[in-house]
Amino acid sequence: MDFHCHIDLYSNPKDVIERAKKEGTYILSVTTTPKAFPGTKRLAHSAPRIRTALGLHPQIAADRISELKLFDLMVRETDYVGEVGLDGSREYRSSFEIQLQAFRYILDSCEAIGGKVLSIHSRSAATAVLEELETRAKSSTPILHWFSGTQKELQRAISLDCWFSVGPAMLRSEKGIQIARKVPRNRLLLETDGPFAKLGKKVLFPEDTQKLIPQFSQIWNCSEADAFGQLSLNLRSIGHIAKYRV
Ligand code: MN
Repeated sequence: MDFHCHIDLYSNPKDVIERAKKEGTYILSVTTTPKAFPGTKRLAHSAPRIRTALGLHPQIAADRISELKLFDLMVRETDYVGEVGLDGSREYRSSFEIQLQAFRYILDSCEAIGGKVLSIHSRSAATAVLEELETRAKSSTPILHWFSGTQKELQRAISLDCWFSVGPAMLRSEKGIQIARKVPRNRLLLETDGPFAKLGKKVLFPEDTQKLIPQFSQIWNCSEADAFGQLSLNLRSIGHIAKYRV
């Protein structure tokens, strides 16, 4: 599985989709603007294991805030919302208030419908994201993608019953490994964040998540078959949530 991938931003999305179909990879195809949603969804029309999420990336929220109207028009077309969230890093701090406005609007819109699964960006803004989730996301299922908060923030996210999607780039750092180790096993999903995320100079593709199975067998101190089994169970569980949770 690759539960956070920007299929539309690869240089050849059709190849990515054909390979995923051949490998049987389940993909959450996230978008960065509401405008990108219809075309990105269309790309995957022949791929039953791909789900397209409707998003507004916090790094471009300030430029695209007017697209929230489009968000409302399309939010009933999918169980999945992402990439959304907040970015408090230096480059984006100046737009933080607008990001917050957009994120709150999206969470409220999701809550009005209920049962959405959200793929959430929280770079340098984990506390602010968790505060919003606590008050505005009662029926939504939040997945914190590439979580990089502090131990305290991690514990708070766990107590809010958040899910976590973890990728090869995150597991290159000792901090990322420590986070993955502390996440409850039944709340963990795999992602690449391709084509943004790279391993060395190589852009990551959905099938690269297969290489994480040996890593999780080490992190969880179990066999590779058991790690695969746990992750498959998690994938089925989140799919079930998306369909039936209200
Ligand atoms: Mn992303």
